[in-house]
Amino acid sequence: MSINRQVTVVMYHYVRDLEHSRFPAIKGLSLERFRRQLDYIQANFTPIGVEDVLEALATPKLKLPSPSILLTFDDGYSDHFLNVFPTLDARCMRGCFFPTAQAVLEHRVLDVNKIQFVLATVPDAGLLLEQVFSSLNEFRSEYALGIKEDYLQTLTEKHRYDSRDVTVLKRLLQRELPEPVRKEIVKRLFARHVTSDEAAFACELYMSVEQIACMRRNGMHIGSHGCTHAWLNHVSPEMQAAEIDDSLAFLQRLGIGKDDWTMCYPYGGFNESLLQILRDRQCPLGFTAEARIADLDVDDRLTLPRLDTNDLPS
Ligand SMILES: [Zn+2]
Repeated sequence: MSINRQVTVVMYHYVRDLEHSRFPAIKGLSLERFRRQLDYIQANFTPIGVEDVLEALATPKLKLPSPSILLTFDDGYSDHFLNVFPTLDARCMRGCFFPTAQAVLEHRVLDVNKIQFVLATVPDAGLLLEQVFSSLNEFRSEYALGIKEDYLQTLTEKHRYDSRDVTVLKRLLQRELPEPVRKEIVKRLFARHVTSDEAAFACELYMSVEQIACMRRNGMHIGSHGCTHAWLNHVSPEMQAAEIDDSLAFLQRLGIGKDDWTMCYPYGGFNESLLQILRDRQCPLGFTAEARIADLDVDDRLTLPRLDTNDLPS
């Protein structure tokens, strides 16, 4: 019989009591479904930790429990401290958490989150898209911008869970438009539709340094999710190195040493230059957003795939 070297890595984002929250339309997992999913996981898998994966990578013939599962939580939301941490702790389970440095340290709402909360407030993504296209005109004298039809034609990649309008809106505002243009448009949409008090919103949305440190003291793994949640495969190698080094400085503040961290790519985006930067810094493990089960004998340790919580029953 062959030995098991596979591990199902699951990725979570928002985990909250959606029904009783101020933004019930935010795309997330309800606390009730999270608990049901943990029931399912405990009945069908053996939960393991990052240390188990590292040990298995260091020991080629070491068997992992069959089937193994590793839980990961992206973006450093306060949901993770308030809802996930006590729930996992009560079941003696562990999780891996990947906060972004800037959101936590500077009380800034990441653009990726601003876009999500605008979409949770304005249900008609087509309307928002029209607003974005019409506001492009005022930036045309300064930046070389395409016309609506160009963008609609280029941004054809499909998303697993988003409609076409939502996908185009997200891609335009996350990476396609020049950075100053998209930042300004996102800022305006967020101030208009969600709140003008970004710092207060950020304090509610993300964990504090103390909360993250508390989870770490209680056995949770904390890793890097970059500094600003940029698409790291769409920026220069210099910017990639700065993103990684800033996030490492943040992890150091939490007492995490340079040999004790892992990488989780924002949006799952990576490329060869980024992998080289990670190898140079002795990063032992990296997580993508490619939806399949990881095999430690086949997959590169820096590009382990992860299933989405929606891929599992709950
Ligand atoms: Zn993320």
